[in-house]
Formats: sequence, C-alpha cells, structure tokens
Amino acid sequence: MEILYRSTRGDERVSASQAILKGLSGDGGLYVPERIPALSKTLEELGQMDYQEVAYEVMKLFFTDFTEEELKGCIAKAYDDKFDTDVIAPLVEADGAFYLELFHGKTIAFKDMALSILPHLMITAAKKNRMDREIVILTATSGDTGKAALAGFADVPGTRIIVFYPKGGVSPIQEKQMVTQKGSNTLVVGIDGNFDDAQTGVKKLFSDRGLAAELEEAGFVFSSANSINIGRLVPQIVYYVYAYTRLAAEGRIKAGDPIHVTVPTGNFGNILAAFYAKNMGLPIARLLCASNENKVLYDFFRTGSYDRNREFILTSSPSMDILISSNLERLIFRLTKEDPSQTAELMSALSGEGRYEITPDMQERLKDFYGGYAKEAEAFAKIRSLYEKTGYVIDTHTAVAAAVYDAYRKETGDETPTVIASTASPFKFTRSVMQAIDEKYKDASIGDFELVDKLSALANVQVPRAIEEIRTAPVLHRAQCGKDAMKDVVRQFLGQ
Ligand SMILES: *Cc1c(COP(=O)(O)O)cnc(C)c1O
Repeated sequence: MEILYRSTRGDERVSASQAILKGLSGDGGLYVPERIPALSKTLEELGQMDYQEVAYEVMKLFFTDFTEEELKGCIAKAYDDKFDTDVIAPLVEADGAFYLELFHGKTIAFKDMALSILPHLMITAAKKNRMDREIVILTATSGDTGKAALAGFADVPGTRIIVFYPKGGVSPIQEKQMVTQKGSNTLVVGIDGNFDDAQTGVKKLFSDRGLAAELEEAGFVFSSANSINIGRLVPQIVYYVYAYTRLAAEGRIKAGDPIHVTVPTGNFGNILAAFYAKNMGLPIARLLCASNENKVLYDFFRTGSYDRNREFILTSSPSMDILISSNLERLIFRLTKEDPSQTAELMSALSGEGRYEITPDMQERLKDFYGGYAKEAEAFAKIRSLYEKTGYVIDTHTAVAAAVYDAYRKETGDETPTVIASTASPFKFTRSVMQAIDEKYKDASIGDFELVDKLSALANVQVPRAIEEIRTAPVLHRAQCGKDAMKDVVRQFLGQ
C-alpha cells in the first residue's frame, strides 16, 4: 500500500521519492510517513536474512514508490565492501549489554549507515521524478558529517558535493580526513570563520534565488544531506530490526521477548529510528535516550519543558553537543496526535523564545522513553571500567550511553536485555579514549598516530582502514576562502 509523506507543520503531502529530494517541506516542517507500516515478515524469517535483505524488507514498506529493482540496486551499492565486515553492523556482548557496532563504514561512525545509501536514493528519486539536473550537495560541517557526506557522494554519477568547514575549527584528524577526499565531484573548502559562519553562509546560498536560477539554467539543483531527510531516517530503522532478529536467531533472546535500546543522542535521529522500529512491531520495550552534559533532552523527558536557553558545553562527545535536536519535531508531532498547527506553534516558540512546554497529556504519551545523561567523568570512567573488566574499548559517545544504561539498571533493577547503539569507533576519538583508559596519555607530546598504534595494541583491534589511509594519503583539497566569498567558490566549482 502506498505511503505518502506529510509535513509536521501543514497539509502538504508528497511521495517518498519527492520527500527524499526535497528534504524539508515548503512550510518548514519535516516529512513524516502518514502511518508507520507493520513488518511484513516474521521475526524468524527476518532472522534468516542478511543485512541487505533485511534492509530491503524494511525500506520497501516506507519507500513505496520505488520499484524492487531500484531499491535493491540502492541497497547493493550502499552496503558493500565499503564496510569492513560482511555483517555490516555486528553485535558485541560485553558486561551484560549488547553493543551494536554502527561504525564499520567508510568514516568509522554511524552516519555512514545512512549516508552510504542516501546518494543512491537521491539520484533514483531524481530519475523517477524526471528531474534531469545534476544534484549539488552543500554542507557546512563541524567535522564529522562533512566527511561522511563526502564519502557517501564521492564519485556517485549525477551528484557533486561541496563541504565548507571552519579552518582551524576542526581537529587535525578530521581536517586530514576531509582534505584527502578523493572523487572529482568533491570540493572541500576551509573558511576563515567558525562553524556558525560556515552554516550561515550555506543557508544563505540555499536561499539565494538569483543563484538558484543561474544554476538551474546551467543544469544544477542544490540539495542537502542533513539528518532530517527521511532518506537518512528510514535506513537507520534497519539495524534495529537486524539487531533484534540476530539476538533471536542466535538464541540469546526468544523471538517476541522485549528488549530495551539505549542510544547516545544528539539530533534525535538515531533514537527516533528505534522508535519507528518499535512502531513497526519490533518488540522494543523502552528507549533510553542518553545525553552528555548538554542535557536538554534529559530535562525535557523529566519536565515536559524543552529549553535551549542555556550554556553550550564543549565535551569529548562532540557529535552530541547539540541544543536543538531537530528530529524531535517528528516525535512532538506524534505526541500532538498529528496536529500540524499545534506542532507549528511549539516549533515557532522554540525559534522565538528558545523554549516550549508540552501538555500533561502529551507527556503521558512519552512513557516508553527514559531520559538520562552522563557527565564527562562518568563517561570516561565507563570506558576505563569496561576495558579493565572485559578488554572491550568503546568510544566517548557510546560511553555516554553505556554510563546512562548502568545508572538505569542500578536505579530500576530492570534486567531486560539491552542493545546499546555504538556510534563511533574508538579510533575516531583516540586521544580522549586513551586518556580515559590511562592518565599517562594526557601527555600532549604523544602524536595522534602514536596513540592510534597504542590503542590498537591495547584493544587488540586492527587499525581501521579509514585511519590507516589518512596516515599517508596526499592532500587533494587546499581551497580556502573568506566567509563572504563562498558564493564565488561554488560558482567556480560548477564552471559558472
Ligand atoms: C551524530 C552522532 C550521534 C548523535 O546521533 P543523532 O542521530 O544526531 O541523535 C551520536 N554519536 C555519534 C558518534 C554521532 O556521529
């Protein structure tokens, strides 16, 4: 049955492929499926399938205007030997929890799970809608998303990608990862300014009608790969279904038994995907939403009041340093019983006063969620204790989730089997991870790659390809510009 996508803030309805192409609705709302489809295969049947097959079974129910051949083609191109393991998302049991490793893709972080497939979904969607212009992805990045998007779009025919990052505002490893990016359709530019300048500049380019008209004439159209695109959300549902059915197939749980999931959360995309999986009929009992010291979501779950007016704290789990969790809007829409005007009001309060409050009724509907947060020291202590107890090393983001799960288990005595989303390889945040394990690595004179080798020895894990490559990879991008020259850079790259 066809599923249309509607805006959280108005009456617009579009097909799946149009929602993927547009990203954001014209009224500023996010696209949500009109209803969440139920899984159409049993848990036992899914347990016999490999990752790609499970991906097809989940995505076909959401992307109903894609043909079987189109969708299977996208999946085959996305989940191939770019991943360093055939199972794509392995589960590792350590100290009474199941870590779902979502970091085996090109940039060793979980955004690869969705950004490997988004470019293929986009060009397929463009063809379906007879849009024959070349898609130009524009992104501002504070480090991680930029590299994952570059890796996803590099050399995908019919696309180009331009990434702006703050020169001097990202870590040396992050910069090296980006400026060594291969692919003739990629451009990486360091700007004189901070992340906000980059972000503001990109927003300006998106809303520049003159530029859009000029590019249309030349056969280009701008698009964005950010995390509110439904083409990123749906592929993230897959790995929860995959994880559950692996546990059942391996006899670690009985098919039908409840599990909990714990997710280190920033923009609320990953945990929302788990919530959608639950709504499809996957037996997930509770969703534990883990925040770092930027604990807006923890406060929201506790009080029903979302308030971004607070100090922004820089932590060692930077991908969770977020005060506006964009994807939460999709949950709010559900809590209002799908009332676009009430949702629009709350979101306008958020952009105006920086806060909103939900009604007690709405709060009542949140009971499947549990909000927790971990301080920096608690996350570090978890990395260390888990390592000492089991030899398993987790990254700083995953550690926030693991610490929150420990606290939950202690507080409630609840021993329900739990999957923890492991969102980055420890090699992506080597310095912090090594410092958590042993204070002697605080010594700033120890080089990045020296630490990488030490981590490899200590964790007994091979250095991932993504890190090995940048050790020696040549710098391919040297472009720099002032924050007012971004438009010229774009024009030049597109031959205008
Ligand atoms: C993006 C990211 C997160 C947060 O995920 P959301 O979907 O934004 O909540 C957590 N950990 C890592 C390593 C990430 O890159």
